[in-house]
Amino acid sequence: MTMEGMWKVAERAEKIPPFIVMDILEKAQEMEKQGRNIIHLEVGEPDFPTPPCICNAASEAICGGKTHYTHSMGIPELREAICDHYFSRYGVHVTPDRIVVTSGTSPALFMIFSALLERGDEIILSDPHYPCYPNFANWLEAKPVFVDVSETDGFQLHASDVKKKIGPRTRAVLINSPSNPTGNLLPPGRMEELIELDIPIVSDEIYHGLAYGEKEHSILEFTDNAFVLNGFSKLYAMTGWRLGYIIAPSAFIRPLQKVQQNFFISAGSVSQWAGLTALTQAQADVERMKLVYDERRRFMIHRVKELGFGLPVEPSGAFYMLVNAKHLNHNSHELAYEILEQAGVGVSPGIDFGRNAEGYLRFSYANSIENIKEGLDRIEAFIKRK
Ligand code: PMP
Repeated sequence: MTMEGMWKVAERAEKIPPFIVMDILEKAQEMEKQGRNIIHLEVGEPDFPTPPCICNAASEAICGGKTHYTHSMGIPELREAICDHYFSRYGVHVTPDRIVVTSGTSPALFMIFSALLERGDEIILSDPHYPCYPNFANWLEAKPVFVDVSETDGFQLHASDVKKKIGPRTRAVLINSPSNPTGNLLPPGRMEELIELDIPIVSDEIYHGLAYGEKEHSILEFTDNAFVLNGFSKLYAMTGWRLGYIIAPSAFIRPLQKVQQNFFISAGSVSQWAGLTALTQAQADVERMKLVYDERRRFMIHRVKELGFGLPVEPSGAFYMLVNAKHLNHNSHELAYEILEQAGVGVSPGIDFGRNAEGYLRFSYANSIENIKEGLDRIEAFIKRK
């Protein structure tokens, strides 16, 4: 091999697409360094600090010497608390031996995909979808298969459309409710229809707890034959703590544990103790944050409609909305950069979430109502100038 060949970046790393939202955020931060004032409506993380009771638990863990590797599956106390949480919230019985605590939902996704997908296997995803899903599948040389979902239907899957995409290599269908990027929920009746298709369901429940009105449902209320991913990033404003978990059918636990041992050893010990307090003591903090999100959500819905963006189904979960901006520009990437540069507002281009989301923009309301108001006023002025 030539010297040049030795230093060649492996194709899988060369070809993995960037997370465009992160690109926009980084560009916005660069502009801020140069003195520009930017309103961030592109962000995918809570603007709240982590609740004090959680931080205190972390301090105690550090001072108490709980700073070593933990069991690869996670500390027993946290796994028990996750079982209690799923019982009290959804009435479902899960045992700690079906739980693997992970360093965030992202590693959990990687681990589940690794345990499910052989090279060439297919996983069915909605389009639009969270950008990393297909990238994880492609990384494993599996194939994401997309089902277009429509804005008039809340961008959620219908079993009849999924059925058409099922083939000999199908291994799973992924659902995400409340959803990123749409903020919509998958109704329980449609979950049941998906279960009837009799293929494994991977349910990304990371936005659970952030539903403003109708209650969100866990897939485990309807079947045990599913993989649940969840995490502490969103509900408890703990993005930087890197903590999540998997609930999986028993047959997958030992393989998932081995993946964990090899790739990650264990989730962070301090974060796990903090997570235990989040589940057991932070309910009042969660309720407080939820009320604020809901106020912003209602304000943003009203305002984006006033500005002429399309939003046929009102989002009722997470902290996002995906609005139709085709009347301004069919190229969402171009439009997002125009809005950033000309209006000083960061927004996420729909194309980041799939081809079917081209022409849309994702607005996040994980920002103060004053900033949301200012950001949308700036977008209004931008539209008027256009
Ligand atoms: N799933 C969805 C739908 C998300 O929006 C995110 C974060 N943006 C993740 C998973 C990953 O979250 P984390 O790794 O912080 O737990």
